[in-house]
Amino acid sequence: MAGGENQAEYVNGSSITSSILAAEGVEFLESSEGKVPLSSLDQKTICLFFSANWCRPCRAFIPQLVKLYNTLRNTDRNLEIIFVSFDRDENGFREHSKLMPWLAVPFDINICRRLRNHYHVVRIPSLIPLYSNGEPVEGDAVQLIEDYGIDAFPFRRERREELMAMDKMKRQGGKLDDLLVNGSRDYVVSGDGRKVLVSELVGKTIGLYFGAHWCPPCRAFTIQLKEAYNELKISQNRTFEIIFISTDRDQEEFNLHITSMPWLAIPYNDKTQQDLCRIFDIKGIPALVLLGPDGKTLSTNGRALISSYGAKAFPFTESRRVEVEAALRKEVDGLPHQVKDPKHEHVLRLDKAKAYECDFCKGQGRFWVFSCDKCDFDLHPSCLD
Ligand SMILES: [Zn+2]
Ligand SMILES: [Zn+2]
Repeated sequence: MAGGENQAEYVNGSSITSSILAAEGVEFLESSEGKVPLSSLDQKTICLFFSANWCRPCRAFIPQLVKLYNTLRNTDRNLEIIFVSFDRDENGFREHSKLMPWLAVPFDINICRRLRNHYHVVRIPSLIPLYSNGEPVEGDAVQLIEDYGIDAFPFRRERREELMAMDKMKRQGGKLDDLLVNGSRDYVVSGDGRKVLVSELVGKTIGLYFGAHWCPPCRAFTIQLKEAYNELKISQNRTFEIIFISTDRDQEEFNLHITSMPWLAIPYNDKTQQDLCRIFDIKGIPALVLLGPDGKTLSTNGRALISSYGAKAFPFTESRRVEVEAALRKEVDGLPHQVKDPKHEHVLRLDKAKAYECDFCKGQGRFWVFSCDKCDFDLHPSCLD
């Protein structure tokens, strides 16, 4: 480990930071009220913020950083942020500065370039927390802040490791409260506006469904999931529940969305939505994470289980999957791989199918189909001559 890593040194005394800034040619800093002397940095936790007005991800990140900055300043943390510009001209710098309540290095292309080089900044936005010796604590903290918000403070490796360990605990600990409760909100909501206590869900098999109304593959998956859900809940009376975790764009879209769903949801704009995406490493939607009655993760690929097997996949264990797969193979034991049936002019081939309509009896089909390569003709195996 490099020197200067104890908390006291990190939090207090930034005279060395100001001397690094001075050595790179910075004479004073700017705030919205005017010039600020470098000595004002003393006794503060300093972060350098590299950003530019032409950079869309920078503009998208700033509101989150402003919120975090204001909150931390109000809770008496000695945080100061200094904007170092990647702008091409003074106008861009001025426009960009308007978005930020913190300090700025006055616009000077050469000085900004030297600071970029000094701190090895290769992309923006970049937020570099500094030790009191003026050197970076560890690289860029933008991702850490995007993942954890204000909990990321003071943006150090130890904090990152602590947060990741907490996520792992929540993922593996088997406690629904840890996953679904946020502060005083100890319930989830239903489409018709009821509140259901998280404690009532303990002991059930749970599906966490990540989706959004604007996403066409989600709409298609919702139909499959509803079919399995109704089969399990209504026909089979299983202790099963689905909690929807929304990435809808606004409250109205969310409301519209959940009223069309038979299951429960985390309320809109609740921090838990982002936390669950991070904890289960959700990279795309739709996604379905399945938790067993003990609260532990059974599968993070519930989408494939539901698409392939529907309600048959319950209780979503690996041994059940193997069993269903074997049963499905047995169904077609003794059936030919291809067949010429008098009901259709072309040869039909046996294939796995998600959902289809039989072109002979017009009934729904699943799992297996005799289908034609040349046209769209589908036939139930049971409808063969
Ligand atoms: Zn049929
Ligand atoms: Zn055909």
